[in-house]
Amino acid sequence: MIDIPTLLGFAAAVLVCIAILLLLTRPRDGARLWLAMPFVAGACGCTLLLLPALYRAGAAAHLGTFFALLAFATGWQGIRSLFRLRVRWALLLAPPLVWLALVVLAFEPRGLDAVSAAGRAAIAALYCGLAASTLIQRHDPLLPSVRMLARILVVSAVLAVLAIALAPWLPEPLGAGTPRTWAVAVFSGILLLSVLLVCGLVLAVLKEQSASRLYDAATRDPLTGLYNRRLLDEKQASWDREDRISNATRTVLFFDIDHFKDINDRFGHDVGDRVIKQAARAAEQVVRKNDLIFRYGGEEFVCILPDSTLRAGLAAAERLRTGFERSAASVGRHPVKATLSVGVAVSGPQHPTSADLVAEADRQMYRAKQAGRNRVAGPCPD
Ligand code: GH3
Ligand code: MG
Ligand code: MG
Repeated sequence: MIDIPTLLGFAAAVLVCIAILLLLTRPRDGARLWLAMPFVAGACGCTLLLLPALYRAGAAAHLGTFFALLAFATGWQGIRSLFRLRVRWALLLAPPLVWLALVVLAFEPRGLDAVSAAGRAAIAALYCGLAASTLIQRHDPLLPSVRMLARILVVSAVLAVLAIALAPWLPEPLGAGTPRTWAVAVFSGILLLSVLLVCGLVLAVLKEQSASRLYDAATRDPLTGLYNRRLLDEKQASWDREDRISNATRTVLFFDIDHFKDINDRFGHDVGDRVIKQAARAAEQVVRKNDLIFRYGGEEFVCILPDSTLRAGLAAAERLRTGFERSAASVGRHPVKATLSVGVAVSGPQHPTSADLVAEADRQMYRAKQAGRNRVAGPCPD
């Protein structure tokens, strides 16, 4: 039978190895330190729990548990550091410190072991919940590894909530009952399994994040954050394949800012750039969740509206035109009065490929320019 010190020693050794592994990986500097911190704190906790001979037994156990709680807290900050979020010191340190103070000053003198066990489970649940919510809120779109990590944290939070409710009956270290070797084995097993899973997934998140950053750099326009023309060209081949097996119509809006060269000449390139960004935001306001917007060239944009009728496309184009006219009436203190012209085209046998459809929307946009600008042009709806 494995004894408790052996289990704790084994856990401490694994945690130290993982901390070293994370320190040797190469994410951003701050993130690397914060990601290693929970494993360092966990190893300190296990070591303190191992060494009751050095301290008064109770004090060592409390300090060990305090470090275990710090491992949860720093784990939450480690997740935040993946998204470059600042350190929230008060929420990071206050719950473990308050728990330690209450244990020493109130719970232990009054024999309130169950309250102390419920308190530490509540703190574990708090940080698991906070970490899961950070992952869910901050990631768009959710990477597979992030989704999996969030699920594991939610399960851990639920288990911790159960441990709060069962604290008086569960044996130590799961609750406040008389310690049992099986409880230590279950606790260490869950701890090691979740530590290994979390560590593996954190490394997967770092890899997926850097792949996603590279993909974004290759497919997005840095000024507006919209997709670029390269991605439009790539997508067109897959749309053509889908169109062979689907009857849904697709509408394309092609829009271009009117007299943009004049805007640059009169107000300068900075103002011109801000007008381009306003056009991008105006388009985002009118499209649906699955529609795609591309910056096609300098001040030219393409919106692809899948599963959309001509009527819906024309209405969206008109909303885009008026929305932009309103938002770009002035930029800062400059009376820019920018407008844009939109061409609309809908898929059908006369436009056999997506490239033909975009070219038709472009032709319609030139019709709008010739008709006087600041207008929408397209085929007549039936
Ligand atoms: P029209 O109404 O016929 O569209 O006239 P226009 O002046 O808008 O058309 P034109 O295509 O002649 O001018 C486009 C200008 O956009 C020329 C170029 O210097 C400017 N431009 C292209 N990219 C950018 C950019 O990223 N920022 C800024 N500020 N200007 C840009
Ligand atoms: Mg223009
Ligand atoms: Mg142009």
